[in-house]
Amino acid sequence: MSDTHNYLPFCRPSFSDNIISDDHGKYDHHYWSPIPSLTKSCMMCKRKSLSRRLTIRRESHISEDNAAHIQIRQDLKPKFAKSCRGLICLWCSEECHRQCWQSVNDNNDDNKCDYGKYKNIIVRPQWLHRVANSPVGFQARFPDNIDPSNSSLTPLIVFINKLSGGQKGEIIYNKLIRLLNPRQVFLLENDASVMQALDIYSSLRNTRILLCGGDGTVGWILSTLAKRFSSLDNPPVGICPMGTGNDLSRVLGWGWSYNMKRLLTTLLHISNAKPIALDRWQVDFEPLTRIDPIEETGSIRRCLSHILDHPKFVREIDRPSYQNYQKPLNVRFTNYISFGLDAAVVLDFHDKRMRDPSKFTSPMKNKLIYLNISRQYFREFALWRAWNLRSYMRIICDGEDMTNSLRHCHTVVLLNIPSYGSGTHPWSRTYQNSISLSNNIPNQTEKFNQINSNRFQDIDPPDYSYDQCKSAREDISNTVESSRASVTNDQIGRQSIDDRKIEVVGLDSIQMALIHIGFRGRRIAQCSQVRLELIRSMPVHMDGDPFYLPQFTAINVTHAGQVLVLTNDNK
Ligand SMILES: [Zn+2]
Ligand SMILES: [Zn+2]
Repeated sequence: MSDTHNYLPFCRPSFSDNIISDDHGKYDHHYWSPIPSLTKSCMMCKRKSLSRRLTIRRESHISEDNAAHIQIRQDLKPKFAKSCRGLICLWCSEECHRQCWQSVNDNNDDNKCDYGKYKNIIVRPQWLHRVANSPVGFQARFPDNIDPSNSSLTPLIVFINKLSGGQKGEIIYNKLIRLLNPRQVFLLENDASVMQALDIYSSLRNTRILLCGGDGTVGWILSTLAKRFSSLDNPPVGICPMGTGNDLSRVLGWGWSYNMKRLLTTLLHISNAKPIALDRWQVDFEPLTRIDPIEETGSIRRCLSHILDHPKFVREIDRPSYQNYQKPLNVRFTNYISFGLDAAVVLDFHDKRMRDPSKFTSPMKNKLIYLNISRQYFREFALWRAWNLRSYMRIICDGEDMTNSLRHCHTVVLLNIPSYGSGTHPWSRTYQNSISLSNNIPNQTEKFNQINSNRFQDIDPPDYSYDQCKSAREDISNTVESSRASVTNDQIGRQSIDDRKIEVVGLDSIQMALIHIGFRGRRIAQCSQVRLELIRSMPVHMDGDPFYLPQFTAINVTHAGQVLVLTNDNK
């Protein structure tokens, strides 16, 4: 029996200072902690309750050697209350009776700890060593006798955003530091803390990452990984969805909302999940000299646009406050970037939350406030459909000016993944079977049971009066209803997360509501680079983070390599 086992540790050692190259196995001991009663069968006697007869029978078979150990242990008087009748291993969760524990011989191979059902992802203490003169203090590496290329071991680094999911991050953290090695679980603070965590595990092969957070957190960490690793060289990333949208998590099969049961299932599946490539996109901003908006057609409309108090993406009263949101948190995205109405709602919500956090204390309250802001914006823009993004920006896709396609659009979205705005599919609903690491699948004809976009774009409100707008909206709704029933064959490019193409979709205020019940938006282009030139100031929404861009800004979106993510086939 090793010295370390002459007492009952209440905390597991999370690292080792011993040299491990000769015999890594000798550290695979159970680490027992007292529990009042057993919740499952004892690993020794295979029974849950311990009868008096059984106790006597087992103790009568204890060898003299073991009897000596028992004597030592009784002398040491391990401190556990008389009410504690059992013990649990803090690594593998095996349980055993107090009486049976006295006959456990840790040097017997049958009694080695196998680290339980999370054995593939647990960072074993003997892999972690303290390193002097290092800012991170620790370094992880496999022992010499483990060949990582032939191993099913996929040590996991877990990053948790404490604030995501209605402050559930702390509950997850407390749970995971019990199930795994506490030194492999990190609360997210800043870029430096992420880099330090990656430094500790840089020598450990086959590592994987689990991100517990919303789309904003995922975007941030993927961006940090891209700074540290070259394209497709990062530890692949799985997701525990804790935000409101969770679009990337939906696409990769990790679910659309958080619950503890799903998280535990994720821990079991993440070792077998398949790494796939995900495109990343670079966003560069540049100031422009003044450019003129595209003139509205028709003299009446031209005059009215100057006279009337049309709806605005950036309201004058909000403008001073929005100056705080000029700098985007990152300049690369993986999910989407949107301009216009969608971003205006998100930025307004975000600004209100920053100014008075006491009103945003629960997910339900937040949702109601968000819906209320959306309703105000949507109502204004639904009444003024003719006021569209053409007056605000030019859009150039692969060198071709597509600004005229923004007619009637209140939002333009550049989509990298098929899911947007909490699980809607503005480009195509039939993406699921397309996702693959291989790029062999050719463009294919897809069947849509959705809006015929050509018919939709032909409808134009004839005038600006409320009644006529209202009747025009009813016409649109009727058209949508009738076209929904018809199946339209449409030749489009397959949407995939690894094809180095980005999909550009336009949505008006009505379509923004309809995409939630299965409709799609207006497909503008599928291209490799996009340039937008802002004629007026504009709110922008990028991977969950809203920000504000002043007028006369150009935005260039180009491909920026790929990052490895994990897709879950065991949904
Ligand atoms: Zn154990
Ligand atoms: Zn037992």
